[in-house]
Amino acid sequence: MESNRRDFIKTASAGGLGASLLGSDDDQQRARPPQNSRIRITDIKCAIIANSPVVRVVTDAGIDGYGQGETSKPYLKFHVLFYKDYLVGEDPTNVERCLMKIRRAGGFKPWGTAVSIIEVALWDIAGKVAGLPIYKLMGGKVRDQVRCYNGSVPVPASTRDNTPIEFYNWGVAARNLKEGFTIFKTAMFRPAAGADNTYNNTNPSQSRSQASHSRRGAITEYRIKQIVERVAALKEGLGEGRALALDLGPGLILSDAIRLANALEPHNPIWLEDMMIGDYHPYVGAAEYRELTRSTTCPIHTGEQIYLRQHFRELFEKAAVRVVGPDPADCGGIAEIKWIAEYADLHSILMAPHGTFNGLLGNAAQVMVGAAMPENYIAFEYSYQRQEWWREIINETLPDPLVKDGFIDVWDRPGLGITFNTRAARQYLEEEDKDFFD
Ligand SMILES: [Mg+2]
Repeated sequence: MESNRRDFIKTASAGGLGASLLGSDDDQQRARPPQNSRIRITDIKCAIIANSPVVRVVTDAGIDGYGQGETSKPYLKFHVLFYKDYLVGEDPTNVERCLMKIRRAGGFKPWGTAVSIIEVALWDIAGKVAGLPIYKLMGGKVRDQVRCYNGSVPVPASTRDNTPIEFYNWGVAARNLKEGFTIFKTAMFRPAAGADNTYNNTNPSQSRSQASHSRRGAITEYRIKQIVERVAALKEGLGEGRALALDLGPGLILSDAIRLANALEPHNPIWLEDMMIGDYHPYVGAAEYRELTRSTTCPIHTGEQIYLRQHFRELFEKAAVRVVGPDPADCGGIAEIKWIAEYADLHSILMAPHGTFNGLLGNAAQVMVGAAMPENYIAFEYSYQRQEWWREIINETLPDPLVKDGFIDVWDRPGLGITFNTRAARQYLEEEDKDFFD
């Protein structure tokens, strides 16, 4: 025993263990991966493809990983590249070790995207190295098909701006989409242009885009009646067996959120999303949501802007919502959303991951982690690709449509299971990204 202790002290004073306990070794030494690892990150690249930031994590083993962010966020390229110096030299299959270096330099939407899509790319590599689909690395398959909901596939001939009959017709058209979705989400709070009788805005000089994120004036009785009529018509058009979620904010004040939720109760929305605080707000609002949830039987939902499990904790522990919608391309990644889902499940809170703009690779990430989510999983938000050529720039032949009867069959290819056909994909790269696949 004594000799063990002596050896320990000798090692420590020689600068081995002691140096790291005291934190005196330099960053280079700490970044060095264990000697037994066979694969190292050599580069982090980012290209804008169809307006999405797409990350490529390059390794010295000839295995690359990819991740994709929202089509509305091409400006995040610099942020993806910002993390390069932190990650070069690391073993990409030690995903958590890599994330510990970069996670702290992310934030609420949109500043969680870069970390999140790098995380997905690392899992893509880990899966390819192991020869396993990512769901196997997330705890294994709970379901063979992953349900998704429609918030993005366009509904043909879909004018629904005014009368209830237009909303009814929209519902019928949505029901007949070839994907066979069983859950639909729509926004239902757009102020009609020039309609100052729709609600009492406290700041009439606000632009419409300002108003879309700040509507804290009291809603008129007329406006509530109008929303309820439209929801009733839409539900009738969708018909039996199909659920409707409503994105109703963010921006309502608590008293109006309660009034509107109570008025919508007879129509049984599957959830009411972001009524008060949400998309692009850099905070959570657990106290307000707790009171709203206690004031209505409608399931209350938030979370698409939230970064990291720590910021879901209060929502769950206070039972402030019934459903959360973290986005795997914003919340910190797919292992992160799996963790959030498990903790939500412990508190009887449901999962409906956001992802309407995350593209084809975003859908793949959702399928992989959705397969492994606990039984509180409802559906993820399918991302529709406007560009038909997405099917031409990948090596795999996907079912057409990818979604059938509202579900995607979980595939078993290694990693994300979607790989670029680089020869075909090159033509869609911007001039400054021409070396993306080199
Ligand atoms: Mg939303």
